[in-house]
Amino acid sequence: MLLTVFDPWKSQLCTCPDKLTFNPYTGCDHGCIYCYASSYIPRFSDCRPKKNLLTRLKREAAKLRGELVSISNSSDPYPRLEQNQGLTRKCLEILAESRCRLQIVTKSDLITRDIDVLQNVPCAVSVTVLTTDDSLSAKLEPRAPVSSRRLKAIKKLVKAGIATTVRIDPVIPFVNDEVGTLVEAVAELGVLHVTSSTYKVKPDNWKRFMAMFPEEAEKLKSLYFSEGERVGRSTYLPKKLRFSLMKKMKELTEEHNMKFGCCREGLNLNSGVCDGSWIIPKHT
Ligand code: SF4
Repeated sequence: MLLTVFDPWKSQLCTCPDKLTFNPYTGCDHGCIYCYASSYIPRFSDCRPKKNLLTRLKREAAKLRGELVSISNSSDPYPRLEQNQGLTRKCLEILAESRCRLQIVTKSDLITRDIDVLQNVPCAVSVTVLTTDDSLSAKLEPRAPVSSRRLKAIKKLVKAGIATTVRIDPVIPFVNDEVGTLVEAVAELGVLHVTSSTYKVKPDNWKRFMAMFPEEAEKLKSLYFSEGERVGRSTYLPKKLRFSLMKKMKELTEEHNMKFGCCREGLNLNSGVCDGSWIIPKHT
């Protein structure tokens, strides 16, 4: 099945509403150093479309009855391949003709190409932005469009009437935990909701992190591996520190009249449904 029940690593801390998840591509080529999905998908950076994607999706989409479909959770729906292949666009066209509500999560400004399709379906776009500093975003997500391009995309989406949320996710101490300017910038663009969470260490993302940020990794080592806690297959920061980082983010967000949600933190700080899907119009 292409449309499957969203169940992120069976996390007990997930507070997402019931939704289906759909990935047009297997793997992803944005190369984010903190990526969680790279640990469980073989040949992860070798991004490839799902087999018989459009035929299978047409068959499955015909059975939808108003469900929320989230695209994508294990890969970005706008990898570099999409520019020429246009498969995500074709998938959106199929889904727009079915009965569903859509949530699109991306780090690419290519999504603005598909605004005309998105205007025909109840949907929200969630753009991940970690910093206003392009040189830092290029280190964190080496092959994804830099932050300034994503912020311009948010502006276009909002102007076109597409409900837009932002994921400041993950927050990494000593790297991108000073988020005041970013929160202010996205609020000014008309974003309605911010989802955030702290960096969760897995063996492969920690290797990439150490290679890119050796000094910061040295400072974080004891926080994660001596004082932190193990949740499922990830290592979390100590709960007290996660609470203070997320509380600060919540306060900043709400000061700017946006709702806030945490992703898989177990901190009870949400003021809107965690993933921001509350902004997606319901079917009448
Ligand atoms: S965009 Fe998402 S799936 Fe792709 S590399 Fe980055 S974190 Fe991983």
